[in-house]
Amino acid sequence: MAGPQERDAHRARVAVIGGSGFYEFLEDPELVDVTTPYGPPSAQVALGHVGGTPVAFLPRHGAGHRYPAHRVPYRANMSALKALGVTSVLAPAAVGSLRPDWGPGTLVVPDQVIDLTRGRASTFFDSGANHIGFADPYCPHLRGAVLAASRAASWEARDGATAVVIEGPRFSTRAESRLYSSWGGDVINMTMMPEAVLARELKMCYASVALVTDHDAGTSPEEAVTAEAVFEVFASRTEDLKDVLRRTLGTLEADPTCSCQD
Ligand SMILES: [Zn+2]
Repeated sequence: MAGPQERDAHRARVAVIGGSGFYEFLEDPELVDVTTPYGPPSAQVALGHVGGTPVAFLPRHGAGHRYPAHRVPYRANMSALKALGVTSVLAPAAVGSLRPDWGPGTLVVPDQVIDLTRGRASTFFDSGANHIGFADPYCPHLRGAVLAASRAASWEARDGATAVVIEGPRFSTRAESRLYSSWGGDVINMTMMPEAVLARELKMCYASVALVTDHDAGTSPEEAVTAEAVFEVFASRTEDLKDVLRRTLGTLEADPTCSCQD
């Protein structure tokens, strides 16, 4: 276990929260235990570098995918990153597509969220009257950096999408999927909330980098989505996704011009 001094020496301003396929993303990872008022995070946080930039990495679902989406300790995760000095969070995620024209392999940088999760601890403000602005749930600065990086990587991301976040762990019925689509939903996922709002409450910049792995149940007449198909597509594009993230990290300015910290 790293003590407070060692931890200070490794403070990272930027964090990546993603699948375990990203462990080898860091050049010289050192695992640290972080305790939070909300219990332990999903796993030890890996601190290291990517192209010279200090970066923290946290596997959202823990070792061996031990936490399904509805059991991820979201508050502990965000609180742990904040304690390490993180100010910006990049969150790669697998999403289903609610649009026939966005097939598997499409990269998307969402700008809106419809939160249908329930029963998750989704705020740090459990007392008092605290209302936070969330009209624009994602940091415009980070979004722009990811979009530019995706263009540079010749895998241009879709700029803007409404992400519908469902409770899971089951996938949608065909009727639900059609409903979400009629609401203007573009992609669907189980982890983007409450992660994004907790980041906002902690005044951290946050952007989701979404990889379409499948068409959701109501979008295509084909066979409905399976977990195996999702993992397969995600695994096949993980290296490309890392390339986009690497390029993004290389362009992040020390003092972003956004209002996430206000
Ligand atoms: Zn920001």
